[in-house]
Amino acid sequence: AIRCRAAVAWAVGKPLSVEEVEVAPPKAGEVRIKIVATGICRTDDHVLEGCFPNVDFPVIPGHEGAGIVESIGEGVTSVKPGDKVIPLCLPQCGECSFCLNPESNYCLKSHVSESQNLLPDKTSRFTCKGQQIHHFLWVSTFAEYTVIPEYAVAKIDAAAPLDKVCLLGCGFPTGYGAAINTAKVKPGSTCAIFGVGGVGLSVVMGCKAAGASRIIAIDINKDKFAKAKELGATDCISPWDFKKPIQEVLTEMTGHGVDYSFEVIGHADTVTAALASCNMNTGVCVMVGVPASGSVISIDPMLLLSGRTWKGTLLGDWKMRDCIPKLVSSYLEKKFNSDLLITHTLPIAKVNEGFELLRAGK
Ligand code: NAD
Ligand code: ZN
Ligand code: ZN
Repeated sequence: AIRCRAAVAWAVGKPLSVEEVEVAPPKAGEVRIKIVATGICRTDDHVLEGCFPNVDFPVIPGHEGAGIVESIGEGVTSVKPGDKVIPLCLPQCGECSFCLNPESNYCLKSHVSESQNLLPDKTSRFTCKGQQIHHFLWVSTFAEYTVIPEYAVAKIDAAAPLDKVCLLGCGFPTGYGAAINTAKVKPGSTCAIFGVGGVGLSVVMGCKAAGASRIIAIDINKDKFAKAKELGATDCISPWDFKKPIQEVLTEMTGHGVDYSFEVIGHADTVTAALASCNMNTGVCVMVGVPASGSVISIDPMLLLSGRTWKGTLLGDWKMRDCIPKLVSSYLEKKFNSDLLITHTLPIAKVNEGFELLRAGK
């Protein structure tokens, strides 16, 4: 076992606690990775707030990391010690019917279908103070070392800067792919993005790359607008500046609503507003934000009956093991600049400060 530091969430509503943990060696089909850098995604904050009843505590969160393979278990062939990798919070076994379907990225051999909290063999590789600690999404990147199934690991270019490409583990591909893969934004179209945090800004980048001519960023925090504009937003509006509902404002701004709308917050009311904001007949609305488990969204059926398309996305619809290494190569070729999403860099000891910055909208 390796002894190292990890940020452990002992209970809902409590700050993370940086502890010394033991990380057991990888079993057959598993890989032990030295995590070099990790981003903080709002989904990690949802975990700490207790939004997911199927996440068991104590748990080591984090799912947007990059690192170096330290050791491999029996039978692992696709990576070797020293390889740079990105852990995949959505795996790709390559064998299940969903992996074999070119249109799906939802691997059936994933934690979404199986246990969320333990590795596929239903045991944990983490212990702290003699107690078993749960894994999160099979990746747990808030640990200096973590153990992951081989088919949830993507080998990336050795030249990749890990402190930058860690964002390619979740936030960037989710937003960028929501525009390019899920919505399939067309050149010349109009897009509206509800919520321009890390993921929403990546949607803005995807809409711009797809050739959208009008990109409307919607956020209640106007401090987000400068970066949204830098990345391609043509209009930035706050719902708080209007008396009428934001869907009516957008419909007036565009004539008949936008071609593509994206909800990247995770609230039921903004999901409904995003749906109503797109063209009643040809509009496509993509749900990216994760509402709390158990929430229910009620909509006027006419919103769909008139022809709109309502879609969701997991990780931007990329087949992760195939596509993340290619996205890393595109990053190295400067086809997009995800570095602009990085606002602060902190050591693991200050992980709670990172969450405070996220909650403060910074
Ligand atoms: P974030 O907190 O950085 O961004 C959210 C933004 O929404 C903030 O800028 C905030 O000011 C804004 N906002 C909040 N309430 C608003 C309102 N009522 N109207 C307008 N704007 C509002 O979060 P993030 O890391 O960008 O994640 C966004 C969402 O995407 C989260 O729900 C997260 O769980 C989800 N997510 C989903 C996937 C997926 O695979 N579908 C992947 C990653 C993240
Ligand atoms: Zn995430
Ligand atoms: Zn699969």
